Amino acid sequence: MDLLFKNVTAVTMDEDILSNVNVGITNGVISYIGSGEAPKAERVIDGEGKLLFPSLYNCHTHTPMSLLRGVGNDLALEDWLFNHIFPAEQRIKEVQNAVYTGAMLSIAEMISSGTTSFNDMYFGLPQVAKAALEAGVKANLSNGVISFNPEGYDYFSTADYEETLHVLTNYHNTSGGRIKAEVSLHCAYTTHPKAWQQCAEYASKNNLSMHVHLSETVTEHNKNIEQFGLTPAAAFSKYGVFDVPAVAAHACHVTEEDIDILAEHGVTVAHNPVSNLKLASGAAPITKMMAKGINIALGTDGMASNNTHDLFEEIKLASILHKYAEKDPTALPAKDVLKMATVNGARAQGRKGGQIKEGLDADLILIDFDSPRQVPCTDPAISLAYSTTGRDVVMTLCQGRILYENGEYKTIDIEKIIYDAKEISAKVV
Ligand SMILES: [Zn+2]
Repeated sequence: MDLLFKNVTAVTMDEDILSNVNVGITNGVISYIGSGEAPKAERVIDGEGKLLFPSLYNCHTHTPMSLLRGVGNDLALEDWLFNHIFPAEQRIKEVQNAVYTGAMLSIAEMISSGTTSFNDMYFGLPQVAKAALEAGVKANLSNGVISFNPEGYDYFSTADYEETLHVLTNYHNTSGGRIKAEVSLHCAYTTHPKAWQQCAEYASKNNLSMHVHLSETVTEHNKNIEQFGLTPAAAFSKYGVFDVPAVAAHACHVTEEDIDILAEHGVTVAHNPVSNLKLASGAAPITKMMAKGINIALGTDGMASNNTHDLFEEIKLASILHKYAEKDPTALPAKDVLKMATVNGARAQGRKGGQIKEGLDADLILIDFDSPRQVPCTDPAISLAYSTTGRDVVMTLCQGRILYENGEYKTIDIEKIIYDAKEISAKVV
């Protein structure tokens, strides 16, 4: 046994909460869960005053956008996107190593706040893959196709396709399956039926998942109906976009029929409450979707609209937002939002994980439960949902490898990344 957490409290997301339990790791996999006399291990970590939890899944982000943290605040989405973000992103394309550095900065923040797996949508895909691979995290990677003109459009002669093919050929399912290539349409109204059909067919042929933005704002939702005579969900569905496993981010303005479409096709909805509230986009009808059996996961979205990757913020906000929206304090209880950040995220990404269970990858976080923020603790699940922040994470592991411990990064030269990020950001913003 390589590593053993001794006498720890474990919120397993599988069975009940286990107190004073020993959790062992061998070859990157959870190999032992038991109480009583602890087995021998290369390294033993005392779990006194700590809580062990599955590491978190961020199911919608744009990691290189950390370079644009704080750009274009307090604006409506269309103004924010077209007048501030797209021009800055044009400059990101022109600066060497910008995408890699932005991605690494985001990954560093995720690791330190408990996330080890994410769905990303951004150009410069091979640079994001390189960062994720080096940092030791898991990532489902795609670059969101944007094309306003269907005339002469051919996905297979675009940089989007070239990049996807590069990641598919060189990174897909390597390193114990940590990196996965996906296909992505930025949004229905920033693309067209030709792109929808070609991307859907390509994903289906290569067994790849899809990642899209869906009905984020009411303007976008209505524009789509005006332009194509269909809601974004109906349009994507008609052209096969949801015939493969798919993650749809936002879904704030979906109709009853759209919800049925998403449920029927097993589409995961990535709920991004911080971004949605900051841009005043709206709140997705999450409880309605859950009632129809839709898998709901959580995301942070990009750093220009959040502005942090701390998924514990999304956990708490998701719960209290829907209590408010439903005028029902029993809506989205702690256990449901914790499931969204773990079990449901793993399901969305096609990964066996999100639980502390023998045989699963040792993707784990250790949380300090002896801090003023956490004492006293009546129920660890309640504390996780409502008082924990990413700053309480003291150790992060992915596939049994320690990526972060007591403020120290084991796989990232954090001083260099912060220095480079400041330099590059000054050039692009
Ligand atoms: Zn997004």
